[in-house]
Amino acid sequence: MERTLAIVKPDAVSAGNIGKILKEIEEAGFLIAGLRMVRLSKAGAEGFYAVHRDRPFFENLTSFMSSGPVVVMALEAESAIGRWRTLMGATDPAQAEEGTLRRRFGSSIERNATHGSDAPETAASEIAYFFRGVELG
Ligand code: GDP
Repeated sequence: MERTLAIVKPDAVSAGNIGKILKEIEEAGFLIAGLRMVRLSKAGAEGFYAVHRDRPFFENLTSFMSSGPVVVMALEAESAIGRWRTLMGATDPAQAEEGTLRRRFGSSIERNATHGSDAPETAASEIAYFFRGVELG
């Protein structure tokens, strides 16, 4: 079993797409081990995306991610990291495959509806950013 961090980003929350995304997650066979709605501060978003701090889109990304509430989840499944990234689709919704979450619910490379960890080490640190171990089912 593997865990990954998933986020329903502010664009998908404000568009009313939390339920549709959760339904896809459950139907795809992930166990939701943790789930919270949080409103990130700008500093909180900067901390979460610290690896991207030198990228040109860092300012826009962290402003966007702190612009409204998000839903953070720890998802559990075999190969959860890769399977969640497949379900999300490519970073840019325009490049994402038909039927993927980013294709369905994203509107730009920045406002792309969902986040997913990209490796076991980042999954562990990203889950710990939002959940204490004792909180996870
Ligand atoms: P991910 O792992 O598919 O989320 O992609 P990355 O780790 O490369 O980027 C993190 C997040 O930054 C993405 O999900 C986007 O929201 C945002 N992002 C990535 N590339 C760009 C870009 O070129 N422009 C802007 N504005 N945002 C970007």
